[in-house]
Amino acid sequence: MPDGSVRLDALLVWASERLARSGSPSPRLDAEVLLCHVLGVERTWLYTWGDRKAPTFQRARYEALVAARASGRPVAYLTGTREFWGLSLKTSPHTLIPRPDTETLVEVLLELAVQPSGRLLDLGTGTGAIALAFASERPGWQALGVDRVPEAVALATSNAHRLAIGNARFQVSDWFATLAGERYTLVAANPPYIDPADPHLGQGDVRFEPRSALVAADSGLADLRHIVEQAVGHLEPGGWVALEHGHDQAAAVRDLLRGCGYVEVASRQDLGGRERITFG
Ligand code: GLN
Repeated sequence: MPDGSVRLDALLVWASERLARSGSPSPRLDAEVLLCHVLGVERTWLYTWGDRKAPTFQRARYEALVAARASGRPVAYLTGTREFWGLSLKTSPHTLIPRPDTETLVEVLLELAVQPSGRLLDLGTGTGAIALAFASERPGWQALGVDRVPEAVALATSNAHRLAIGNARFQVSDWFATLAGERYTLVAANPPYIDPADPHLGQGDVRFEPRSALVAADSGLADLRHIVEQAVGHLEPGGWVALEHGHDQAAAVRDLLRGCGYVEVASRQDLGGRERITFG
């Protein structure tokens, strides 16, 4: 930590260098987001007021957060929030951290939601990201998010209240277990789909996220298969199921859908140009 009275811009340089050395893929961004969190300001404020100085108590808090980030902890768990679809969502270690890739799933759902009203089901909702983003764009629809983890349901419910999104609600359910007889216009999920042997699990933020939100048996396909099979009995006529999956699973998910009798099966690329969303 630099000593004496230190300008915010110098503090950012110090933190970025420290985070770069610790292997963060986005050291400057992390440094800025954490400083904004401590100061309670927006990032644009930092660009204007970099010549200001931080009081000692804030510098001490910042130093602790930078040290935690340097040890690998995800920024979204340190700040307790993450932006998704322009919504500021509370996050917790009980849930997956919402990722920009999943915004592609929201785009697909909005394209499929052609009627003025309908019912969306988001399976394994976590922070509520998919259900809340969708509900915020389609006020005539009702969104239900389910998760088998009660802490996730509580978090998603509090996100809905804080964002004043009244047409999304959340309940505990292990996939469709509590939804017998219920039908939906759209069924969406970003389920666990990582192969248990994937070396990616030992790197970066995923080390700190719940394994139950990331890893699935059968090369990562077990939960995708369960959802595809079960969704058949929970769709309204003409309804759609839309799923996020790994970049090498699109063909397998298309086969799963076709094998269960879905028609008009297609995949969509994520921001990186890889097929990550499949629907039918
Ligand atoms: N996209 C995430 C990752 O690769 C995984 C999310 C998931 O398994 N649903 O880190």
